[in-house]
Amino acid sequence: MPFLLMVFLTVACLPKWDPQAPPGWVDSIFWSALLTWLGVALTALEAFLAAWRVRRAVERDPGRRDRATARYERGRFGRQLLLIGVYALSLYGFSWGWAVAQLWSWDGRGAAPILGVKMLTLAPFFLSLLLSWVFAYDADRSLFLAAYRQLDGDPLARAILDSGPAAPVRAAAKEFGGRWSYVAFQARQKLALVFLPVLLLVAQQEISLQIDEKIQNEWAWQLSAVAIVGVLAVMLSLPWMVRLALGLKPLPPGPTRDRLMAAARRLRFRCSDVLLWDTRGSMANAMVIGVLPWPRYVVFTDRFLEEFNGDEVEAVFGHEVGHVKHQHMPYYLGFMMLSMAVMLYACLYASSLWPGLGGGSLGALLDGIPLNDAWIPAGAVLLLAYMFLVFGFLSRRCERQADVYGCRAVSCGRGDCVGHENGAGLAPRAVGLCPTGIRTFIYALEKVASVNGMSRDRPGFLQSWQHGSIARRVAFLYGLLKDPSAERRFQQRVALVKWGMIVVLGAALAVLIGVCPTPTDGTDPAPKEPSVEAPDQVPNAGIKLDLDSSRS
Ligand SMILES: [Zn+2]
Ligand SMILES: [Zn+2]
Repeated sequence: MPFLLMVFLTVACLPKWDPQAPPGWVDSIFWSALLTWLGVALTALEAFLAAWRVRRAVERDPGRRDRATARYERGRFGRQLLLIGVYALSLYGFSWGWAVAQLWSWDGRGAAPILGVKMLTLAPFFLSLLLSWVFAYDADRSLFLAAYRQLDGDPLARAILDSGPAAPVRAAAKEFGGRWSYVAFQARQKLALVFLPVLLLVAQQEISLQIDEKIQNEWAWQLSAVAIVGVLAVMLSLPWMVRLALGLKPLPPGPTRDRLMAAARRLRFRCSDVLLWDTRGSMANAMVIGVLPWPRYVVFTDRFLEEFNGDEVEAVFGHEVGHVKHQHMPYYLGFMMLSMAVMLYACLYASSLWPGLGGGSLGALLDGIPLNDAWIPAGAVLLLAYMFLVFGFLSRRCERQADVYGCRAVSCGRGDCVGHENGAGLAPRAVGLCPTGIRTFIYALEKVASVNGMSRDRPGFLQSWQHGSIARRVAFLYGLLKDPSAERRFQQRVALVKWGMIVVLGAALAVLIGVCPTPTDGTDPAPKEPSVEAPDQVPNAGIKLDLDSSRS
């Protein structure tokens, strides 16, 4: 879901709407605004009613908590789709982007945009999202409290706790906190994992809208250089930005920290720090951020450290280290950029076949190449399909590689191993596999599914396209347990797939560049391309959120 949302918002803020041609059925600013904000009100009403139903159900009977939770969680995904759908209708049906471009311009006709025009375009969506959190607070809070009410209604539990009636409920209510701290918490989570790349793209768009087109053409080369330097700077500072947005704190001193530091030394793994992510106990997860050794963080959530023991934490730490050792992030980055370039040239080629589609902001950006904004939604759908199918396939292979590295990280290398005493005698640099190491990792994986409430066998497509189901990952590791020599064949196969993909994409790009029309003014479009694609894709590729959380 975070990924879907990111692509959608990117698509929403890319087009430069033509003041002469509203894209939807509505061609009056008044009606566009009225219908758009009515849509916001309706989604808010829906969020309010969903939360109210949950609250009423568990307040009448706390025993119905589990059923109400399950129903509410199932609806969560549908509600996010509803937000996206209503906003897409505003943009393409009610011409909201077009209306803002006209309204928010110095001349009132869209020729001289005022700073903030893109933010205003996105405002209805962000407001819907904000209101959905405001109301979700009631549902989440009453579900949280229902657990304590159940306890409160049980005389035995009350006798053991030795407290007055309703004391646990009052304490729990205090622990859950107020509505605004809940909303702020949700906003920070979303900011770090979804909106950061989108906001950077919006900033880039706002700035380029403020710079006169004539200046843009005169200084094209210099502006491209600034854009590339900017993207590199963003990529390098991404770990700091995520740390700031999520409010990550260094893992406090103690046995877990000592053990992870020792593991890092043993695996010859460099990172700036191991951080703790306070998710209010909502998920058990780990991730690694940062392409370079500095800044690079390994992050564990609060729930993860509560539920997993030392061996398991070390095994999952090994999985994160595995992503770095196998160079997955630079590979993803290269793969994405190559894919984007192929897709861009494919669009160019297609629009040269149908010349009637000339113009649009992408076309202007690419110096007179006939590429129309009509391609943006189609390109986004294509991109999504490509990501789910091709990138998903690659990503699942890479996760398996990281899983194997995680097993190695807690292995001693002896084939006849029957157990390790407190992690003693583990192989340096993860050189060997042993049955105990594989079993430790399998156990940790199974626990990820059960603690996060994910289905082990059939988690649903959106939860498993990047990582694969826990059942399949475990089955693969059991295969290694039976036949350790299978690992070499697996690694060879993955290497073949990864490099084969790069070769195929490179060849496709070469062919497309050959058949595409040359730009009218003779400049090569390629150097400018990062300013279009990079801000949304590149920063994202630096984050690896692992073991996929069940929520988005
Ligand atoms: Zn062993
Ligand atoms: Zn992973």
